[in-house]
Amino acid sequence: MNDYHIHTGRCGHASGEMRQYVERAMEKGLAEIGFADHLPLLDRRDPSLTMSREELPLYIEEIDRLRREYPEITLKTGIEADYLPGFEEETAMLLDYYPFDYVIGSVHFIGSWGFDDPREKAGYSGKEPLEVYKEYFHTLQKAARTGLFDIMAHPDLIKKYDYRPSADVSDLYEETARAFSEAGAAIEINTAGLRKPVSEIYPHREFLETCRAFGVDLVFGSDAHAPEDVGRDFDLAVSLARDAGYDTTLTFTNRERRPVRIEFGGGSVA
Ligand code: ZN
Ligand code: FE
Ligand code: FE
Ligand code: ZN
Repeated sequence: MNDYHIHTGRCGHASGEMRQYVERAMEKGLAEIGFADHLPLLDRRDPSLTMSREELPLYIEEIDRLRREYPEITLKTGIEADYLPGFEEETAMLLDYYPFDYVIGSVHFIGSWGFDDPREKAGYSGKEPLEVYKEYFHTLQKAARTGLFDIMAHPDLIKKYDYRPSADVSDLYEETARAFSEAGAAIEINTAGLRKPVSEIYPHREFLETCRAFGVDLVFGSDAHAPEDVGRDFDLAVSLARDAGYDTTLTFTNRERRPVRIEFGGGSVA
């Protein structure tokens, strides 16, 4: 079982040493993990959101050191990169420059609004939920279509503060699943939603089923920002995945994917 979405203290809003995340993964019996800390934002400098560009090579070196130190676990070099319209080429250059095993693409911004940032929660007030959802999912579709990303992170992050339209959003799920499928981007089951006001895994079950119907591959991530969150609630993630019809997940090396059976168990699953 892989946990492909693990942050580090370098992003300015996560705690613990990188080795603590690795040790926690081994305690949980995970066979493979990947760090996917936030790629420096290319349109600003905010040390509370990401590492600096100068730190990026140090992040990669530290993963390499830990890989040598902990041969008992497979450790991958990932990154979580924001989709920033207008910065596609610069993003591509940065992603190509470093030896990433996989790139997780994220939409954390609608225009300049950081809608999942607790400091920008006021941005929801006075907006029509369905309109916000449309903007979010359309942005996510564009993100996938850039082809920059192997995996799309927390694919319905817009629900984070339990902000949901009353209308049916099946059309948005379908359009988005189609965009992922056409772009060859996998989807992420991300358990961090359980630790947020929405108290629900990303994505919603119906969205996951739609992705499955469109042949979109699946990856698991805890989005750990603290060592104790590594592999957290993966029992729930696995049953959700199975219920949606998935029996394989992916492993990535040098941005090449390979399907592997979803296997959970072994080790102490807390
Ligand atoms: Zn983060
Ligand atoms: Fe994210
Ligand atoms: Fe993340
Ligand atoms: Zn995230």
